[in-house]
Amino acid sequence: MVAKRPKFCGWGYEGDGLTQEEREMVLARYAERFGLEGFEKFINSPLPDQVDLHASRIEIPAALADFCSAANIDRLTHTYGKSFPDYVRIYDKNFTNAPDIVAYAKSEDHVDAVLDWATGAKVAVIPFGGGSSVVGGIEPAVGGKFAGTLSLDLTSLNQILEIDKTSRAARMQGGIRCPDIENGLRPHGLTMRHFPQSFDLATLGGMIATRSGGHFATLYTHIDDFVESTRMMTPAGVMESRRLPG
Ligand SMILES: Cc1cc2nc3c(=O)[nH]c(=O)nc-3n(C[C@H](O)[C@H](O)[C@H](O)COP(=O)(O)OP(=O)(O)OC[C@H]3O[C@@H](n4cnc5c(N)ncnc54)[C@H](O)[C@@H]3O)c2cc1C
Repeated sequence: MVAKRPKFCGWGYEGDGLTQEEREMVLARYAERFGLEGFEKFINSPLPDQVDLHASRIEIPAALADFCSAANIDRLTHTYGKSFPDYVRIYDKNFTNAPDIVAYAKSEDHVDAVLDWATGAKVAVIPFGGGSSVVGGIEPAVGGKFAGTLSLDLTSLNQILEIDKTSRAARMQGGIRCPDIENGLRPHGLTMRHFPQSFDLATLGGMIATRSGGHFATLYTHIDDFVESTRMMTPAGVMESRRLPG
């Protein structure tokens, strides 16, 4: 359901990675550093089909079927962020908190429909941007008071809607990733000048939600230094702040 799927285990996208030559060089260094031959056989990444994933607890309602999935690969890639404890559990093939459903919202109507249904069905909704959280922000660990969990993937809401060169402002959707922000602004002689180390995957919405900090960021360090206005969809309706400059 996504054009380019981030890796199940590791940083970046499926298909990205070290060349065989680079891999051998890294493994040789590990062997030297840790005095352990045959390191490779200890660090093979787990594969999705090796995970014994529990069945989804909820059915996808017909109204959401076009953009939702309960396929194992979608649930597995929306369980964890990128912290060390996340990787420990990935290598342990422990996916106890996998979401029951993943929704790939492509419009505000989709977000609205998800929130509307989930409220009535007592399903916890967890927004998912780049999935680069290192503090458990996207893990559907919500305790026992919900009927199930839904990971709301927002990366298809990835458009720059408007560029106002005079005000040096841009209106963008929350699922846009950092490289697409810069690629979209560059032809207009603009930059957001916000470069977290998770630049490749992090999304605007995820950065605003976490108040991300950038590098090369003397003076303007955190994302909120650049945010002039936000529009948020909540289960109780839309919340929008006044747009400045007016
Ligand atoms: C290798 C690496 C380097 C990193 N470097 C930095 C760094 O330099 N600076 C820094 O600040 N952080 C860094 N981080 C942490 C992480 O990248 C940031 O917190 C980033 O802002 C998260 O963005 P994301 O799109 O991946 O959000 P996600 O991880 O997908 O989500 C983070 C939180 O935001 C919520 N959320 C996501 N999108 C939305 C949305 N549209 N609306 C509402 N809520 C939403 C999620 O539910 C979750 O709670 C790094 C992480 C890694 C793994």
